[in-house]
Amino acid sequence: MHIQSLTAEQSLASLHTSAVGLTSAEAQRRLAEFGPNHVEEVERERLLLSFVREFTHFFAIILWVGAALAFLAEYFDPGQGMVRLGVAIVGVILINAVFSFWQEYRAERAVAALRQLLPQQVKALRGGEIVELLASELVPGDIVLLEEGDFVPADCRLIESFGLRVNTATITGESLPQARNADPQPEMSPLSAKNSVLAGTSVVSGQARAVVYATGMRTEFGKIAHLTQTAGKATSPLQREIARLSRIVAFLATGMGGVFLLIGQALGLPFWENLLFAIGIIVANVPEGLLPTVTLSLAMATQRMAKRNALVRHLPAVETLGSTTVILSDKTGTLTQNRMSVRRLWLGGGFFTQEDIAAQPRLATEHRALFVNAALCHNLKEIHNNGKHEWLGDPMEVALVGMGRQAAGALDGFRRIDEIPFDTDRKRMSVRCETPQGRMLYCKGALETVLEVCDSVQFDGGIAPLDAAAKTRLLAAQDEMAGAGLRVLAFAHGSIDGGLPAEERGLILAGLVGLEDPPRPEVPEAIARCAEAGIRVIMVTGDHPHTAQAIAREIGLMKSDQPVVITGDDLLHLSPAQLHLALDAPEILFARVAAVQKMQLVEALQKKGEIVAVTGDGVNDAPALKAADIGIAMGVAGTDVAKGAADLILLDDNFASIVAAIEEGRAVFDNLRKFLTYILSSNIPEIVPYLAFVLFRIPLPLTIIQILAVDLGTDMLPALALGAEKPDPDVMRRPPRARNERLLSWNLIARAYLFLGVLEAAAAMAVFFFVLDAAGWQYGESLARTAPLYLQATTACLATIVMTQVMNVFLCRHPLKSSLSLSLFGNPLILLGIAAELGLLLFIVYTPAGNWLFGTAPVGVEVWLFAVALAALMGVVEEARKAWLRRSLR
Ligand code: ATP
Repeated sequence: MHIQSLTAEQSLASLHTSAVGLTSAEAQRRLAEFGPNHVEEVERERLLLSFVREFTHFFAIILWVGAALAFLAEYFDPGQGMVRLGVAIVGVILINAVFSFWQEYRAERAVAALRQLLPQQVKALRGGEIVELLASELVPGDIVLLEEGDFVPADCRLIESFGLRVNTATITGESLPQARNADPQPEMSPLSAKNSVLAGTSVVSGQARAVVYATGMRTEFGKIAHLTQTAGKATSPLQREIARLSRIVAFLATGMGGVFLLIGQALGLPFWENLLFAIGIIVANVPEGLLPTVTLSLAMATQRMAKRNALVRHLPAVETLGSTTVILSDKTGTLTQNRMSVRRLWLGGGFFTQEDIAAQPRLATEHRALFVNAALCHNLKEIHNNGKHEWLGDPMEVALVGMGRQAAGALDGFRRIDEIPFDTDRKRMSVRCETPQGRMLYCKGALETVLEVCDSVQFDGGIAPLDAAAKTRLLAAQDEMAGAGLRVLAFAHGSIDGGLPAEERGLILAGLVGLEDPPRPEVPEAIARCAEAGIRVIMVTGDHPHTAQAIAREIGLMKSDQPVVITGDDLLHLSPAQLHLALDAPEILFARVAAVQKMQLVEALQKKGEIVAVTGDGVNDAPALKAADIGIAMGVAGTDVAKGAADLILLDDNFASIVAAIEEGRAVFDNLRKFLTYILSSNIPEIVPYLAFVLFRIPLPLTIIQILAVDLGTDMLPALALGAEKPDPDVMRRPPRARNERLLSWNLIARAYLFLGVLEAAAAMAVFFFVLDAAGWQYGESLARTAPLYLQATTACLATIVMTQVMNVFLCRHPLKSSLSLSLFGNPLILLGIAAELGLLLFIVYTPAGNWLFGTAPVGVEVWLFAVALAALMGVVEEARKAWLRRSLR
């Protein structure tokens, strides 16, 4: 029989399990038999496919055409060394493919490794006790406990449920929440059966227990997983910009090659030789390794962010983070520690501390109802983990339960029947209980909302009607506690025996409890850094405005005497235009806001052109998290649904980690610019020799193969090292990057092409002529391609380009600051990159293999001295330019 059509008991029996779950030993055995509960990736095929793609993308095709032309040239005009060129270009394609593949593979691994940092946890019953497990440890027959915000970890059949609604969009595409219950169903399909919940779907509301009947690849999700996994990855705007840019450059390069071919023809150069140069121009200019390097830089940034407790879920988030202009932050747990302790109580008209209660047994007796309420009205789970017993859930409730149990004493004869759950819109919750005094309802929540359901209040003299005067006293008491930064909760109760409807109505307000939740110590500094970095921080909390303000002052978020405080009720009455204007206030705070209103704030800020980051943890926060430019979920307190909707997850729930991630995000952008400046610079000394050759009829100073040695050899590692620079200390002292600011700005192009590149080209040509001149060469004299002098002269040109690029690494570390002011050991990769660069150059110049491959010959020490001197001169000139720029910017 299909499990959907069985009763709950039968379905348990059919899986050889029971309502108390499997024993650990049996679970172990089943784990060995069924394997871990995860969806295996169809890895291998995908790897092979992406490797093949490295040979067939746009650049590769341009290069293939180049190689084909070279071989064709050899066929029509043998003996010109065209074969070597053809082979070299194929070599380029190969090296490039392997290198790109390696980079992309590393990037993907890095992102995959991040996922491991935050495995999905589930609550399950094993041997009658609630335990927390990794979702991967679930086996068929396990009983899992599901609640609002959870992802369903495996395919399950419900055995008990309260108001359960699930979102099945990932499996069935249905976007409205679907009700589910434990009744047997005639429906055979698990996809639509009302008593199954499937892996990959999520719980929108309610609670349930369910028995797992399929795990891993055997779940419905596992069966369709191979479809979704092969679906394309999201690319970031930056990656798209780079791709577009590379394409333009490749077209330009090809066009330029064509123009050179025509000029050569016009000047009467032999056709095949001419063609070779055209190919050279193309190969020199095609930015082969750009895109994979960008991807790798982003991936490396995600790893650095993870070390700082911020987990990026999609690569594009890295760059959006860097341009964030506003952070909408929750208070509890993000700005504060979420370590709650009861500080003050308002009972019968006066204030007390917990010590007072312990010292005066009269208080505990007279106000027992409040303490019983605190002990029973909660949503915690008592769990047993490795022999330890603990309460799991909201720390505020843990503190309240602790207080209640201590003051109320033994609770014999009390039993919870059911619960009217808390939600951020109602801001209160209730439980119905059997008590020795009959059935009671206990309610707790924000004072405003609890007052709505009370009609009397307990004062010292007894129960009094809740009139205007009483309300005023209560609100004043709340204000006093909230003004000190305490979070205030009101407690109320009422009998639901004897015909009264069992709902929240006609209750007696028993008192108020003020809890302290100290700010996180790192937060004031993080807020100060945001201020310096031009990022606005706006607190959006469900808490009381006074509590919110007190905390905001404590952490330095609010300094003025007249801050703008807007409550959720105010928001309801503000028109879009009014909100738009209100958001201009320099200091603004939102309190008593419902989760749904967060979305309104996000959209209003986005309309103002802001790049908005927003934090959230509940199911209700998911729309705001999705709508924001950066949705940030809490790793510890957040629900699975919030994490699923977020771009960034904070492993420690800490606001300071957001700021750290923004810093890294900004650094990525800076680093990519350093790296682009570096690799673009060397294009000029690669092109100028051709220009000189064609226009002035001199021997060709740099051969195509030598160009490839620079582009794909010596330049590679230093460029990568620049992509991995640590954030500059000043990165958080400037305003956020404008939304439309391009990576490749005109400034950058001008600096690389018109300044650094020109200096390099001048140096390279100078050393080339220096070698020729020393050997008595005269202008107009032609040199054989294999003449020792020619080989030495091109070698000198190549060596000079590499030496100036070594200098350029240091110059590119900052667009404005002097290279001497940056620590040499701040980035060991730079030194490593340079060592590799020089090692490769020595190989090219001084080994027979290097000489043969690159058409070079050993050069004398005077060449090196001249090259180094010119590189140093380039350093001086660029430093002088930077100094002048710094002065004029001041
Ligand atoms: P933030 O949005 O900054 O995290 P918060 O945690 O105070 O702040 P909510 O969780 O929306 O925001 O809570 C709003 C209000 O609801 C609280 O100030 C409190 O008065 C009340 N409240 C919160 N949790 C409970 C609960 N478990 N039971 C009853 N009332 C609660």
